[in-house]
Amino acid sequence: MSNARVAQEVQLVGMDISEMETLAAMHDELPFRGKQLFHWVYKQQVDSINAMNTLPSSFRDLLADEYVLHPLTLIKKTGSDLEPTQKFLLQLPYGEKIESVIMEEGKRVTLCVSTQVGCAVDCKFCATAKMGFIKNLTAGEIVDQYLLILNSINKRITNVVFMGMGEPFLNYQQVINAADLLNHKEGINLSAKRITISTVGIIPKIMRYTKEGHKYKLAISLNGSSQDQRLKIMPISKTHSMNGLIQSAWDYYYISKKLITLEYVLLAGVNDDIVDADRLMDLIGNLPCKLNLIPYNEIDGPFHRSSEEKIERFVNRLERANFTVTIRWSKGTDISGGCGQLAVLDQESCN
Ligand code: SAH
Repeated sequence: MSNARVAQEVQLVGMDISEMETLAAMHDELPFRGKQLFHWVYKQQVDSINAMNTLPSSFRDLLADEYVLHPLTLIKKTGSDLEPTQKFLLQLPYGEKIESVIMEEGKRVTLCVSTQVGCAVDCKFCATAKMGFIKNLTAGEIVDQYLLILNSINKRITNVVFMGMGEPFLNYQQVINAADLLNHKEGINLSAKRITISTVGIIPKIMRYTKEGHKYKLAISLNGSSQDQRLKIMPISKTHSMNGLIQSAWDYYYISKKLITLEYVLLAGVNDDIVDADRLMDLIGNLPCKLNLIPYNEIDGPFHRSSEEKIERFVNRLERANFTVTIRWSKGTDISGGCGQLAVLDQESCN
């Protein structure tokens, strides 16, 4: 209970324009006040209700009494000694904690956001899995990672990836609402091309995402070159099979005409052999996509990162593939801020 704020407060971050217009109407204000409020929260990104000086002071007073701006509290910021990477610990209204990471590469400043507290999926190589599933984040709690962190660094955030703690497609609607808020022209206005949602591969949700025609980039964590191999490290493959995933990636391409990214964590002696590279080429074939290889980031457990020679051989073998291959060397592994290293095991939940 110790650190939890009064959780009954209604938070402004997370509301869309129509909810803010309804809020204004509820308090006998004209609808355009709702739109002004939206601008203050997401476009001007002010840090207090008091600063919203185009709103009548009576409305501001009422807002300050009955609402809070931020659902999250920033607790701690840890900087990497190796790269310009920072990890942030943030707290939810009932006291649970999540992590987000900022990574810089040239002009690109990428924020990696969490979508759940913990994760139910149980990938054997991922630290978040060790927390189990605690709860889904709301759209406001996802977007607030962006707003609070932006406020605490003096740089523009150019990209957002939904690759932190949790499985985005097991919290589908809140994730889409959060992406829509980040993308909203009258608010944060981050281009859809700069927002990536990464899923472990929940097939019905990939189909829904495809049908709904979202413009955000989609990434699927493949992580294996055969069904049997993937099943050993990702039990979810039992219900969401490799063939089903590749089929859903093809459907996504046919309908959206967009390239999908396939992610592949390289685990020494598990999926990093030449045979795996060959199998991957057969499996992926002509699917227009990008294969993103992620050298494993060490956490407690039986897995190890493939040697540099092994990675090089793997990449060279893929030279004749029809798809583009990239390597993602995770940033901030010295502060456990790399892919799959996010976990807050000392949760003080009040639920
Ligand atoms: N649940 C989502 C998003 C979070 S994980 C998903 O599975 O896509 C983001 C990426 O990090 C995924 O591709 C995942 O396979 C990868 N990953 C997980 N643990 C890792 C580790 N220890 N080292 C490197 N990458 C890891």
